[in-house]
Amino acid sequence: MLIGIDFDNTIVKYDHVFHKIALDQKLIPPDFSAQKLGIRDYIRQYKGDGNDVWTKLQGQVYGPGINYAIPFSGVIGFLEICKQKDISTSVVSHKTRYAQKGPKFDLHEAALQWLRSQGFLDISRTGLSLVHVYFNSTRSSKIRCLIEIGCTHFIDDLPEFFSDPQFPDTVEKILFDPYSNFADHGRLHRANSWQELINWIKHI
Ligand SMILES: [Mg+2]
Repeated sequence: MLIGIDFDNTIVKYDHVFHKIALDQKLIPPDFSAQKLGIRDYIRQYKGDGNDVWTKLQGQVYGPGINYAIPFSGVIGFLEICKQKDISTSVVSHKTRYAQKGPKFDLHEAALQWLRSQGFLDISRTGLSLVHVYFNSTRSSKIRCLIEIGCTHFIDDLPEFFSDPQFPDTVEKILFDPYSNFADHGRLHRANSWQELINWIKHI
């Protein structure tokens, strides 16, 4: 058993960072709710260049903004239990080295520093070290990576990742859906919290 885990918005909670930067740049109204998906959908339909504005905002959030991000509650506990039960885990992320729009932030370095500073790479505790962290520049290479390393399960926050035709049927798909945005995705296993995933892994 090898559980692959996505990074952005699955391990790392950025909602308040998206909200703060989007507000500072007046991209959303002052009373807009602090949820990444809602902010994304609002900005993407913005003024014709919404996609570019969104891509640039992601670069700022996933680059310097990561210093203000926090782990989702329970994710470290989940890794600790996997380690105790001898269940392997890896972080498999779709992340380009540099932000595609705006200043040239090194997103890989920012992510690694965050993982280190938050204690994720303490192998005796979490079972994870640098060799268990994979950044892939495209969605296709992320899928190839999770196949190559032999993931039996994958946890990700985006249903469109699991519905990619290249995603193998043999890998168990677990949608991390902390705000119940995708309650109608009946074909996927869904978890609303890491606590729920802890309860699952404890009984394996
Ligand atoms: Mg993600």
